[in-house]
Amino acid sequence: MNLTPATEISLPACRTKILCTMGPSCRDTATIETMMQNGMTAARLNFSHGSFEEHRRTIAALREGAGKLSRPPTILADLPGPKIRIGQLVEDPLILEKGNEITLTTREIPGTADIIYVNYNRLPSSLQPGDTIYLNDGFIELTVLEVNPESVRCVVTAGGTLRSGKGLNLPGRKVFLDNPTKRDFEIMDFALAENIDIFGISFVEDADALLRAREYAAGKNRSIHVIAKIERAAAIGNIDAILSAADGVMIARGDLGIEIPIEDMPSVQKELIHKANERSVPVITATQMLVSMVENSRPTRAEVTDIANAIQDGTDVIMLSEETAIGRHPVRVVSTMAAVAASFERRHGELMWLSALREQLKAYLTEKRISVPDMISLNVAESAQSLNVPVILASTVTGMTPRRISRLKPESWIIAVCQDEDVVNFTFLSSGVYPLARDGSMSTWHEPVMRQLKKQGILTPGDKVILTEGMFSNPRDGREPGGTDMMAIITV
Ligand code: ATP
Ligand code: MG
Ligand code: MG
Repeated sequence: MNLTPATEISLPACRTKILCTMGPSCRDTATIETMMQNGMTAARLNFSHGSFEEHRRTIAALREGAGKLSRPPTILADLPGPKIRIGQLVEDPLILEKGNEITLTTREIPGTADIIYVNYNRLPSSLQPGDTIYLNDGFIELTVLEVNPESVRCVVTAGGTLRSGKGLNLPGRKVFLDNPTKRDFEIMDFALAENIDIFGISFVEDADALLRAREYAAGKNRSIHVIAKIERAAAIGNIDAILSAADGVMIARGDLGIEIPIEDMPSVQKELIHKANERSVPVITATQMLVSMVENSRPTRAEVTDIANAIQDGTDVIMLSEETAIGRHPVRVVSTMAAVAASFERRHGELMWLSALREQLKAYLTEKRISVPDMISLNVAESAQSLNVPVILASTVTGMTPRRISRLKPESWIIAVCQDEDVVNFTFLSSGVYPLARDGSMSTWHEPVMRQLKKQGILTPGDKVILTEGMFSNPRDGREPGGTDMMAIITV
């Protein structure tokens, strides 16, 4: 797809980005297109589920839909990592009744209510009678009765609905599996061949898994963006190293809510979002944001408030999992999420939360000796607010300048004019950022973009526009100093 500044600028329904997990309920082209029109901004392929063939078709449908809407085709390939999972079930879904006995086996056989395969050979040696096992993000609880060399006999202590491939957690127990796993590298081969360059790395505990994934891609002459999924207790202790090595983070609340005490999760969420904002690392808040809508056509009050709270905390992206992948209302769930986000975004400036967020970030930046690009981002956000600016135009090589502005959550769209398509795709994950690829032949880039914005009525005469660029020191921006050094305020 040829994205140039002359392309139609199709701003999404809200500045907060909506990442939708693809699955049987939503992967046809028509549904994808409708979801994009209703607020979906990016897609997540969970490689723990589905075949390569299915994912290949989904990728094609996503790119077709994005092309039609002139949107960046941002796709996140989420790698399973060292997650213990159950195998295929004969009856899917299967109801596990409280009080019934069930055996977990390391022999690969089709699962029933009596015996289920688990993909981890060391499961029996990790357990003793009396231990608790969690299935399906902790919805189902088993208690171990007896341990045998190849199986574990359990009793169901909290019953529920189980589906093929669901995860199994042993909180606090060391899992002896490499990260990324052999399977993850096979998936990377597939995804790289499909030209996907954003990867979710599951169960990171420190920076190592991120570095290994990056090295693997580099060995194939590919540069990728890695998103660290925070879902183990150890990751929270190593968060600074993880944030330095990652391009993005996901608060993967499904596993996190089992791996740490669930009552600690809200404060951990807020702390992680804040630290990611400080470092201009885009952050995704994931899991159960609208889970009641897997079945129901309306959300709960608590879910709607959860979405708004995550936005107030400073999240860039809100995510849907089973809601879109296997839910009954994939389109409606997206439009509900977008409506909640849009309504909240309209008011959170006026309710003073944004200025509190900016003051906190400003204090952090000043304390660590503020850099020129940081200073510019603060001034841009402040001026955008005071002058009521509808759009900010930021020229960027790595995407860093738009991210630095984005974390301050101005109430304007940030049009990021990028050089490379992979930067376009990744930058689209940051709140309020709408990326375009720069046409290399152009001597000025802002004029055609402004012309297009005026043509579409996004800008009207008299409006102020803020523009940033690296002009005097070094034409590149990025983590190293000497990038963006200029800010201009233009009246339309
Ligand atoms: P993770 O820990 O990575 O979130 P998960 O098993 O919780 O793994 P989600 O992506 O959160 O998976 O999706 C929730 C559920 O939706 C899955 O457990 C699975 O039942 C279903 N699902 C997701 N993607 C697919 C797919 N491609 N095909 C079939 N079912 C899917
Ligand atoms: Mg999940
Ligand atoms: Mg997970």
